[in-house]
Amino acid sequence: MVPHPAESNEGSVGGTTPAGLPLGPEIPKITPMRPRTVLVVGAHPDDEVLGPGGTLARHVGEGDDVHALILCEGVSLRYPDAKEDFVALEGRAAARVLGLASWTLHGFPDQRLDRLSLVEIAAPIERKVRELKPVIVYTHWRGDINRDHALVHEATLVAARCKERSIEKLYAYETPSETEWGIPYDFSPNTFVDVSRFLDTKLDAMRCYRSQSPPANHPRSLEHLRNRALYWGECMLMEAAEPFVLLREYWR
Ligand SMILES: [Zn+2]
Repeated sequence: MVPHPAESNEGSVGGTTPAGLPLGPEIPKITPMRPRTVLVVGAHPDDEVLGPGGTLARHVGEGDDVHALILCEGVSLRYPDAKEDFVALEGRAAARVLGLASWTLHGFPDQRLDRLSLVEIAAPIERKVRELKPVIVYTHWRGDINRDHALVHEATLVAARCKERSIEKLYAYETPSETEWGIPYDFSPNTFVDVSRFLDTKLDAMRCYRSQSPPANHPRSLEHLRNRALYWGECMLMEAAEPFVLLREYWR
């Protein structure tokens, strides 16, 4: 017996359902927008490189426009006598290495975000989201031991809530030494980006942050950043990878 077209594994499906009803309207073809606008939100200069630096370089390599918003300056606490914000200069140099379209330092005081309300922290992120209309947003993981990071995570959730209709995907990135030092360590990535061809660019960007270079064997050292990417890569059968938690996805 010849199967009904709709029951066959081969050939065209035909123009009616098994019940004899006509098929619905033609399915519209939707082509994703390219290039995409990407926004990474970080608490401090260097977070944007430590966490998703290779992925940002990959976005740039794929033709996307990538923007960084850093909420806190990096000198007032650690270098109170500094005459200029040299960490900002390092950040701009790192952004050039990564090929970012913009790198904005908002200037909240370092390690003091807990003196502000969530609304105040979210305000510059919200402004940036409305200005850029990003399709993808990256932010900190909520469980980082650094309080600034946790607050930036929360503030990004507010600024990137569903009424911002450009956003399709919202991810959290890990920050070596802040994420795994959080208790409990509950960063459980569900997205892995192959950064094999972009790892050297990430490390070159990190080299721009001379004032932030840690001692050897530190989770933020260049050697460890490479090893970490190789570790995540091996976990997922890639050469080198960066891990993320997909917090929310809208398929509009
Ligand atoms: Zn930080």
